[in-house]
Amino acid sequence: MNYAELRDPNAEYTMRDLSADTMGLSEERADLSQATITDVQTAIVDGNYPWTLVRVYTDAGVVGDGEAYWGGGVPEIIERLKPFIVGEPPLDIDRLYEHMVQKMSGEGSIAGKDIAAISGIELALHDVAGKLLGVPAYQLLGGKYRDEVRVYCDCHTENEADPTACADEAERVVDELGYDALKFDLDVPSGHEIDRANRFLRSGEIDHKVEIVKQVTDRIADRADVAFDCHWAFSAGSARRLANAIEPYDVWWLEDPIPPENHDVQQTVTQTTATPITVGENVYRTHGNRRLLENEAMDIVAPDVPKVGGMRETRKIATIADMYYVPVAMHNVGSPVATMAAAHVGAAIPNALALEYHSYELGWWESLIEEDGIIEDGYLRVPDNPGLGITLDLDAVDEHLADGETGLDPA
Ligand SMILES: [Mg+2]
Repeated sequence: MNYAELRDPNAEYTMRDLSADTMGLSEERADLSQATITDVQTAIVDGNYPWTLVRVYTDAGVVGDGEAYWGGGVPEIIERLKPFIVGEPPLDIDRLYEHMVQKMSGEGSIAGKDIAAISGIELALHDVAGKLLGVPAYQLLGGKYRDEVRVYCDCHTENEADPTACADEAERVVDELGYDALKFDLDVPSGHEIDRANRFLRSGEIDHKVEIVKQVTDRIADRADVAFDCHWAFSAGSARRLANAIEPYDVWWLEDPIPPENHDVQQTVTQTTATPITVGENVYRTHGNRRLLENEAMDIVAPDVPKVGGMRETRKIATIADMYYVPVAMHNVGSPVATMAAAHVGAAIPNALALEYHSYELGWWESLIEEDGIIEDGYLRVPDNPGLGITLDLDAVDEHLADGETGLDPA
């Protein structure tokens, strides 16, 4: 067989293409989607993470704000995505998402930063579409199950390895900040470690972690739910021992006790303990979550909306999760933009358990938007104004820009 005869190297190769032109879509619409996308810009804000804001511009004078999960290279990928959506009608959110995934397929768009970049644009498209149609983003996702989304506060202390310091901070966050849901890190040093590379937990390490769980839950369990995060640190056997050892304290959940890749091991760990196991912030798209859900390998799924594929992708994951009676606790380390996008998803899915807030120590998180008090007493009331329902304060964005960033143009 002569390969050269089968495929003329000079012939123009046409990949599956979902652009409006190729799909033969009419330019006439029965609504404001006569609008066309004209530009996409990014700005990195130096928050407690490098928040990657994404703004989509249209010729209708409407802009949409989104946010991509942070990480080196994400703005460059968004720049590469721009030619695929400029000139397109912004209301075709689903098609444009598939179009971007297809166009980036050769670069690896089944997971990772390609999907984070695509997610950032997808969030901004929900803001644009809501504004063009005059409806809040949750309406685009099917409407509301709830007015408020429960927010849990990710907590830190000066000495995160001191069980009493953790309990003190838990009490402070409940009493002074009004949260009734918290999370602490449990992959903290105990002083008993010999070699953390092998992932094995020695008995003294287990005892130390149990003491953190005991002191925190003893102090606030009557007033708050509390989860603990392990950041993929431990061996399978150590994860089982830890999860079993903390069963008497009835924690909200234990998060990522083992690395995220091997779903068979995840299934074993989850099914051998009564402690609820949460997984998901390092899993991408519906396909990444499918086997974990089918195999009952997680008790709670934790998609990160601007990382996993965006608002519609999270909606789809929530639908699959609901088929397996699994609730959704959305991971979030973002600015108010990503947080509000996740809140709209939380309003629109039946199985929303909670949404993370990870910036309580920052002091100026909310100054990035013109609205005040979006999280009150641990609950985020989802706004009813069009799109995401928030307005970026471009002066505040400029004030906190990362080095070398130039900011966003107004509408
Ligand atoms: Mg986590």
